[in-house]
Amino acid sequence: MVHRNPDIAKLAGSYLFPEIHRRKLAFLQANPTAKLISLGIGDTSLPIPPASIQGFVEASQQLGDAATYTGYGAEKGHAILRERIAHKLFNGLVNADEVYVSDGAKCDLGRLQILFGRGVTIALQDPAYPVYVDSAVLGGITGGYSRTIAGYEGIRYLPCTPNNGFFPTLTDSSKADLLYFCSPNNPTGAVATREQLKSLVAYAKKHRSIIVFDSAYAPYIQDKTLPRSIYEIEGAREVAIEIGSFSKLAGFTGVRLGWTVIPQELTFDDGSSVKTDWDRVTTTIFNGASNIAQAGGAALLTDEGLAQVAEMINYYNSNARILKEAVLKAGWEAFGGDHAPYLWVRIPQMTSWQAFEWLLNDKHLLTTPGVGFGPSGEGFIRMSALGKRSDVLEAEFRIQNSE
Ligand code: PLP
Repeated sequence: MVHRNPDIAKLAGSYLFPEIHRRKLAFLQANPTAKLISLGIGDTSLPIPPASIQGFVEASQQLGDAATYTGYGAEKGHAILRERIAHKLFNGLVNADEVYVSDGAKCDLGRLQILFGRGVTIALQDPAYPVYVDSAVLGGITGGYSRTIAGYEGIRYLPCTPNNGFFPTLTDSSKADLLYFCSPNNPTGAVATREQLKSLVAYAKKHRSIIVFDSAYAPYIQDKTLPRSIYEIEGAREVAIEIGSFSKLAGFTGVRLGWTVIPQELTFDDGSSVKTDWDRVTTTIFNGASNIAQAGGAALLTDEGLAQVAEMINYYNSNARILKEAVLKAGWEAFGGDHAPYLWVRIPQMTSWQAFEWLLNDKHLLTTPGVGFGPSGEGFIRMSALGKRSDVLEAEFRIQNSE
């Protein structure tokens, strides 16, 4: 008999999205003619920009011609794409050699567990994108889903609420080997300021931690004074890995393309290079992202493609603005939504699930209960602005017609 992997057995049941689905089906059974609008999932709705489509088409045609066919490529990704990520997205703050193209941020978050192994401790924002905790548990980090740190040595939750401006209070007791940090944040929509990221980098240096900075939503930042990358902060190259994605940048959620940056300066406590080990991990268990996807990504990172991206981001940011104004007019609290496609909403006197149920049954709006992202999400719901404008306008109408 084969024993079940104890690390998988430790994972908390995937509760949030199946439960949302169950309640949605029950609602639709009871209200078969209702026009339900989803502000729930974080998937994109606009088509991929034409520049990328052109890139996909050309790459596909090349694969169908013996003269231009290519098979396996470099595991790290096409040189042209790595160059463009380094120059167009990071303004040269990183070198192309430090960029590792992947099949998406989520996949790299999973592979990072192999890099660091079972012995490390992690700290993360609470609430957070659930993949940080789940991939850590899968990687054998002893964790728990309780906010009580005692008894759960491996995983520390750092509450992020309106009281601390959604930036964790970093104390000596919250120190961990890996600090997961996401800005702009999913689910709260909060963006860290330069000063806040400076303090995060200083904290990581003091405690010899490595920051895993998730910048999947960086393209939504409109204010030029807000940092889009952790490497805008002096000294960050010595303490941070950054993970990014084409998913929310250009609707590649189904195409799959992302990247991880590992700077040369980043070392383990024995002085050995993190980058060298990441080279080994990726060349061993990853054979490179799809060459068609990479061609579409490279075509996007041109002046023409980036102008199309700007239009797309503008559309989603306008959605967020419409939703935020409607929520505020209804007398509810709204956070985020200025530089992120998510709104973090609190309806007075309601728990997350109560707000979810009320919006579902009274407004026929599907949202995501904030408590599903971590204990500090209790009392909030997440609204996504990544849907179609027509749905957002209908949602605006329904929200404004609240009693
Ligand atoms: N990081 C965050 C914070 C996300 O919200 C998501 C997707 O929702 C991802 C990473 C995953 O990105 P990808 O589609 O590249 O795997």
